[in-house]
Amino acid sequence: MTRFTSHMQQALSEARAAALRGEVPVGAVVTDPQGRVVAAAGNRTRELSDPTAHAEILAIRAACAAAGSERLPGHDLWVTLEPCPMCAAAISAARIARLYYGAGDPRMGGVEHGAQVFSHAQCHHRPQVYNGFSAPQSQQLLRDFFASRR
Ligand SMILES: [Zn+2]
Repeated sequence: MTRFTSHMQQALSEARAAALRGEVPVGAVVTDPQGRVVAAAGNRTRELSDPTAHAEILAIRAACAAAGSERLPGHDLWVTLEPCPMCAAAISAARIARLYYGAGDPRMGGVEHGAQVFSHAQCHHRPQVYNGFSAPQSQQLLRDFFASRR
């Protein structure tokens, strides 16, 4: 039996590190079936000049590289903000078992908002989804970041 441990604090510290790099503060963590952290990442779209370098994508890539597999069955993904449609599709393709996210994102989200990727018949793997973890901290990071850039 693995005890339930929230990894949202680690995801939030990845988000804070992203803000210090001038990136939109979103952070993600992937845990393996034993609950060990196998990847952690924050947004790097500006640094890498790559619109796909979202925290979730970078964390999934690192976890897949570590596992030597393009699928991550039994793995969980923690992310501070509701994933966008691209990341939701990647989460499904990677066969992530459980998705834990912080704040909902009415503007860019693709899970509870917008495209609602997991609700489509064409989505062949749906993770279990849990939201609201440390949502106020996640939202505050984003608010502070965008306020400082105006
Ligand atoms: Zn994304």
